[in-house]
Amino acid sequence: MVDLTDRQVLENAGRMMVDFQQMSSFVEDPLVLDRGEGCWVWDTAGKRYLDGLSGVMVANYGHGNQRIIQAVTAQLNRLAFAAPTLATNPRALELVALLRELLPAFSTFKLLSGGSEATEAAIKLARQYHKQTGQPGRHKFISHYRSYHGATLGALSATGHSAMRAPYEPLVPGFLHVLPPDPLHPPYGARPEDAGAVVAQVVEDTIRMEGADTIAAFICEPVMQSAGVLIPPADYLPAIRQVCDRHGVLLIYDEIITGCGRTGKTFAFEHTGAVPDILCLGKGLTGGYAPLSAVALKPHVAHAFWGPDEAAVQFHSGHTYGGNPVACAAGVAALTLLREERLPDRAREMGDYLLSGLQRLARKWPGVIQSVRGLGLLAAMEFAGADPAAQGVGQASAGAIGLEVAEAARRRGLLFRRGASIAIFGPPLIISTEEIDWLIGRLDEALGDVCGPNDLGNVGSASDVGNVGDRRNGH
Ligand code: PLP
Repeated sequence: MVDLTDRQVLENAGRMMVDFQQMSSFVEDPLVLDRGEGCWVWDTAGKRYLDGLSGVMVANYGHGNQRIIQAVTAQLNRLAFAAPTLATNPRALELVALLRELLPAFSTFKLLSGGSEATEAAIKLARQYHKQTGQPGRHKFISHYRSYHGATLGALSATGHSAMRAPYEPLVPGFLHVLPPDPLHPPYGARPEDAGAVVAQVVEDTIRMEGADTIAAFICEPVMQSAGVLIPPADYLPAIRQVCDRHGVLLIYDEIITGCGRTGKTFAFEHTGAVPDILCLGKGLTGGYAPLSAVALKPHVAHAFWGPDEAAVQFHSGHTYGGNPVACAAGVAALTLLREERLPDRAREMGDYLLSGLQRLARKWPGVIQSVRGLGLLAAMEFAGADPAAQGVGQASAGAIGLEVAEAARRRGLLFRRGASIAIFGPPLIISTEEIDWLIGRLDEALGDVCGPNDLGNVGSASDVGNVGDRRNGH
């Protein structure tokens, strides 16, 4: 491995397209991450950062985890690639066995490489399911505005951020959107406490008006990270489950971010009292040690794909790297760790601690921070005057407070997801209370850098916590 010179970095960074970044400003001060350990990463200049976003909600087990690294290395030495159209491999079988234990309501798993591949596959599976169960007209999908379900055209069609969709329109036909049940920005004139019931009614009305026999599935994140960590009211997803059941519509949960312990349960649907028919997993499935995603199917869905050769009812889709043995080795090691180390419990405890720190900041910066919320180690801080339509990745425009605070935090060695009016945190599930204190301290300083001095007190650690009402809602 060679160390890059500053000149090499500058010359080559401008020749790349980093996800969602305007490269002309990225190259002015490119972040080039070189190594990691636990919750920390270092750039090529040796500067250390706390990885407050687990890369992108991926590095759940931290960086440099030797158990996963050894599992991956052993598999690389044994078989790096297995013919995906002719065969499976022992690690994939082990992974499916583990997933079956963790997800007893699901019978069948399609292994893929990335989150978009998983949501794309879920969309195709839902359409094919209806064609093979005598309802071929069911081809439409309903999802939320402000959602993100991936970058491929089907997944992007389900996505509800106009800035991401507009450059690629017209998208796939048959995708409808409703506003999410946001109690902080209640849609359709609802009172905050009615947001869930009102949106569930809008979904049902949409199904009726479109004709239920045209609707294939409803897709959502059980906790909507891409809508700014929107935690739906507790009555929402059970109501959606009932609406779907009344109209023969499949319910798909996109748990690419919320799965694998992130929200304080192994899967976020465990908070909701509503189990989906199809579940998409990714990111935390390996914690970033190899690309892997999975779609889990309930038995009644899987059944439609099981038949004699001549029926040709199999899923007519696949990807070269899906269920790759190296990725599956990482997945088996990661899920074993998740279970043995009780990381969902840890995410809940550390998540409460992080939220209390964010609440202290909200008290200290009342005119700046409008609200904080979180579930497990998935948390958000919304700035005053927030525009809920502008909370997607890559939608922060220059001068927006969210962007400025994130830049100041980066200078102080802290990374998190930025939006025009929001900051989102999702550190590794192994984070300690000391590291959370450090995160809160740097964030406080970054707020001071942007907003000027504030002598309303020290936000050091949980011992200073007063009784700030938390904005957690729903589950
Ligand atoms: N679904 C959700 C909720 C996501 O947050 C993402 C990515 O951030 C995706 C799908 C797409 O996953 P990937 O980027 O691995 O394709």
